[in-house]
Amino acid sequence: MAEQPEGRVLFGVLDETSATESRVALTPDIVTRLRKAGVSCLIESGAGEKAFYTDADYEAAGATIASAQQILQQAHAIGFVDRPSEQVIEQLKPGTWVIGMLGSFTDEAYISNLEAHGLTAVAIERLPRQLSAAQSMDEMTSQNSVMGYKAVLEAANAYGSFLPMMTTAAGTIRPAKMLILGAGIAGLQAIGTAKRLGAVVTAYDVRPASKEEVESLGAKFLDLGLDFSKGQGEGGYARALTPEEQAAQQAAVDEKATQFDIIITTAKVPGRKPPVLLTKQGVQGLHRGAVIVDCAASELGGNVEGSTPGTQITDGGVTVIGAPYLASEVSTTASNLLSRNVADILTHFIKDGQLSIDMTDEIDQAMVVAGAKE
Ligand code: NAD
Repeated sequence: MAEQPEGRVLFGVLDETSATESRVALTPDIVTRLRKAGVSCLIESGAGEKAFYTDADYEAAGATIASAQQILQQAHAIGFVDRPSEQVIEQLKPGTWVIGMLGSFTDEAYISNLEAHGLTAVAIERLPRQLSAAQSMDEMTSQNSVMGYKAVLEAANAYGSFLPMMTTAAGTIRPAKMLILGAGIAGLQAIGTAKRLGAVVTAYDVRPASKEEVESLGAKFLDLGLDFSKGQGEGGYARALTPEEQAAQQAAVDEKATQFDIIITTAKVPGRKPPVLLTKQGVQGLHRGAVIVDCAASELGGNVEGSTPGTQITDGGVTVIGAPYLASEVSTTASNLLSRNVADILTHFIKDGQLSIDMTDEIDQAMVVAGAKE
């Protein structure tokens, strides 16, 4: 490996690709951008291949191709699409910075482990997204937007008819009726994509403010006849509903859902298990051939009762796709955006050519979850 110039921050990125992950946390255009900011980049050989970037592209941009071992030992900071595994943590030298989606809201033991290894940890999920200085660092927005777009394509592929109305010599086909549950970043992008494909779109969100946004995109807002406005809107995010409110919401969604051909769910509450919006009974009420794409599906469950990552077809002929990996399936653009977000977080922490923490800064205060005491 080539010698790195003295006094520059060394930023490393590992190959995180797997059967479900095609993204990379650094793209060649960002290597060039970082170089100008005093950062030299190390990237594991082959890390960008699934996002269609070759080692030669990275080298041409000024990065150094390295082995995982070299990066773990030499980088001052490492950026992740996801977060370092226990095995990677074991190999990192104390003082190394890790930047990623660390799961700090739900996994305290993991964060304690980073601290115990003497690492400095920057949790992207804690970005104060409302600050204008944080906009270009917002990976949740960039990746959820990609996910919302891809969710509609996924649903369209699994659906046995057209999305738009189509008049043919053999008759007129009615457009698909699509319901989007959760109208945040992903939901709004899904509405836009579904409208462009000609579906008739209805959307619902628990935040009262979302009605106007849904309607401004030309979709209909679904009125459940329930008012959850009390307590909503802190920082612009949804609050978790009480068990009674949740039950009322589920009953109303289950009933309304029967009218739709395609349902896309994107509802989350920051740092918590996603709420169940559609129960098993609701899924049973859908017609044969209906398609559900649950973007919130995870091992913890999703917005649809019983959905897990992967595709299931119910006895009633409803396709339920648990799809938490959709951003990865638009790998080039998702990586470009993510790489820009991670690079801007990194450079935020570089002051006078050095990585450092300033606990009087709102972003530092919110995001540094380990190593702040040094
Ligand atoms: P998210 O991914 O956490 O959740 C997705 C959507 O699910 C949200 O709109 C949420 O209200 C909705 N939801 C949660 N529980 C629900 C329930 N029980 N029923 C129905 N819907 C439910 O959120 P997000 O997409 O990242 O963004 C949510 C809000 O944050 C939006 O208002 C967005 O404009 C705002 N936001 C602000 C900034 C910023 O200030 N820069 C950046 C990003 C997002």
